[in-house]
Parts: sequence; C-alpha cells; structure tokens
Amino acid sequence: MFKKNRKEFSYETELLNQGAYINLPATNPETAPIYLTTAYNVEDLDDLQDRYDQKGFCYNRNRNPNRTALIELITYLEKGDNSIICSSGMAAISTAVLSIVKSGDHILSDQTLYGETIDIFSKILSDFGVSVTYVDFTKLDDVKAALQKNTKVLYTETVANPMITVVDIDAIAAVAHSCGATLIVDNTFMTSIGIRPLEHGADMVVNSLTKFANGHSDAVCGSITGKRELIDKAYNLQVLIGSSADAFTAWLVQRGMRTMSLRLEKQMANAAKLAQALEKSPYVLKVNYPGLPNHPQHKLANRLFNNGFGGMLSIVLPDDKDKINAFMRRLNLAHYAMTLGGYRTTLSHPIMSSHYDVPEEQRKKMGITLGLLRISVGIENADDLVQDFLQALEVYA
Ligand SMILES: *Cc1c(COP(=O)(O)O)cnc(C)c1O
Repeated sequence: MFKKNRKEFSYETELLNQGAYINLPATNPETAPIYLTTAYNVEDLDDLQDRYDQKGFCYNRNRNPNRTALIELITYLEKGDNSIICSSGMAAISTAVLSIVKSGDHILSDQTLYGETIDIFSKILSDFGVSVTYVDFTKLDDVKAALQKNTKVLYTETVANPMITVVDIDAIAAVAHSCGATLIVDNTFMTSIGIRPLEHGADMVVNSLTKFANGHSDAVCGSITGKRELIDKAYNLQVLIGSSADAFTAWLVQRGMRTMSLRLEKQMANAAKLAQALEKSPYVLKVNYPGLPNHPQHKLANRLFNNGFGGMLSIVLPDDKDKINAFMRRLNLAHYAMTLGGYRTTLSHPIMSSHYDVPEEQRKKMGITLGLLRISVGIENADDLVQDFLQALEVYA
C-alpha cells in the first residue's frame, strides 16, 4: 500500500503521509484495536470489487471492524442470523420498525413500553400515516381482537417497563404469524442471558446495549438481531439514515459485554433477595418482581427465563412526594439515575423520567403512580443492599 522507493515530497505533504500505515505484522492482537477511521484505502478497482463482494470495509457508515466484531458477538448471543449495531437503543428500535412499516400500516403494541418507544409510535410514526393500537399483551384474546388487516408489526418488551410484567413471547409470535406480521421484541431488561426471544418465535430482537449488556453506564448503543432478510432490510436503511454506532462505542460495549453472564447472574440473585426483603417490609405497598410467587406471570417467567428473573423490579410506596424524597435521600447505595443495568444499583421514578411524556390516562392504564419506583439492581453485596433499603424505609416509621 505504501509505495516503496518513492521520492520524498515536501514537508507539509509528508506531514499527511508519514506513518499512515503499519508496516510490521500487527494482526491478531489479544484485544481488537479501535478502528477510528472513516474510510479504507483500496488498491485498485479489483480490490474495491472484492470488498463489495465480501462485505469488506470501505466507509465507516456502512461497515467498521468494531461494529462487525460486536455484530458477531450479539448475533451469537441472541441466536439470530445476523445483526446491526446502532447508535442507541432508540436508533435500533426506530430503524427496526421503519424498515418494516410504510404509510397505511398498523402497529399492534403492548401497552406498557419504554416511554420513548411510545413517543416514536404515537408522535413520530403517526405523522407518516402509520397507526398504532396499545393493548395489554398479557391478555391474548385482547391481542387477537385488536389485529387489523393492515397490522404489520407486533411489538413488545420481554419484561415490560416499569411494571415488570412478563409477556408470553411464544403465544404472541403465533398470533403475529397467523396474519403475516413481524414480531419485534425489546430484550433490554432481560438480555440474552435471561431469554433469547428469537428462540421463542420473535422475528427481530432489539436491545438497548446501553443498559445491562454493556453494564458500565459509559456508552449508549443498540442492536437489532434477527432473520437474514429482515436484517438486510434494516441494514440498507441504517446505511442511508446513518443510525450506526461509532467505533469507540462498539469497542466499549463489546468490552463491557464480556462480563455479562457474571454480572447478570449476580444482579438477578441480588434482585431476588431484595424483592423478598422489600415484600416483607410493612412500608412497601407492593413489589413487582417476576421471581416472587405472587407475581401474576410467575409461572410463565419460570418457563421463559434462564438464570433467574432479571435484575429489574419496581416497588409501590404511598403517593407522598415528601416521603419519597426523604426515602431517596436516605439511601446510600441506590443512586437516582436516568438509566439502568449498570453495575451499581440505580433508582428511577417513571413519572418523572421514562414516562414523563406519556399522557396521564395511558399512565393510569399502565398502573404508574406517584409512589412507583423502579429499581435496577447492581452487583453489590446482597446484604449491604438489603440493609440500605430497609434503613431508608424507616422514614415511613
Ligand atoms: C433505555 C431503553 C431503550 C432506549 O435505549 P437508549 O440506548 O437509551 O436509546 C429502549 N428500551 C428499553 C426497554 C430501555 O430500557
């Protein structure tokens, strides 16, 4: 590539060219380097054709080695044919949905969703002639009754945010396929350690890798995994709208994901212990956690999930803002943060963050009250964590 025996150019030209290529073998490093390059130099037109044929590297928006490496990992973990890596979970969700629906189509969605996903469906896609109906996906008859001739997508989360309800993916997939619709599942809360929706009949699985997958609260990233034809369509759209993640983000997320099984198993075990302890507290009105025997979908969760019941739970405290504030201030380990899935335990208040924009009537339908707090459990020592919550709850004494 670097022409030998060439004549030396002027100083400012050499400034641009010296050290442009690595001339000694640098293949197979123990950890993949970060490919911070927008483009790749090609030798000639045959080389270019080769790169097209082999889906090689030409330009960063199309392909980048760090994304390709992460694609390999997430495709394996979610058991799909192929994946694309997006600049955020929302980029993944919107790219997935936009690659399927067109004007005049209908989306049938679970009513309990991540707030911004509702915004995409209700506020953005509606302007493009796509309609949406929200029903409770735990009620299969309601789902069937809400199908329309133009229903192209059924959409749900494996564990619905923030009520931690569990959807029967196999049953919903059967409904979707009975009318030729595509089932998209957001697996952010459970991750592939907890469930692989494609093995339960989903056609596409989207993940906000920002959360449990990366787990270090330092990168925003998303993925779509699924059948080859669907991913091809999503990829073609991604290249045009530019929803791909940058190299550094893809590298960071891959690094974070290496410890996913260790973290998730600990997070799930901690969440189970915390849920049990909070359920016994006289100050907590309700604990939503699929691992508790009294959770409405406990049996279903038992059948669907591997390794535990996830690291997310929510609790209902009395609708008293001053007391909630006092409780939050008194916690030492659980920090309020508008994210989840990190190695530290975090709290969020759906009305004030993820579901701030959701109309009150829809919030009520979802069961979101002032006293509802969502907890993302970290990898702390379980006893430390339980004790911290119990001492903070003393504000209600
Ligand atoms: C955070 C989240 C998203 C959006 O992901 P970003 O990476 O923040 O864009 C989508 N779905 C769920 C369930 C989430 O928790």
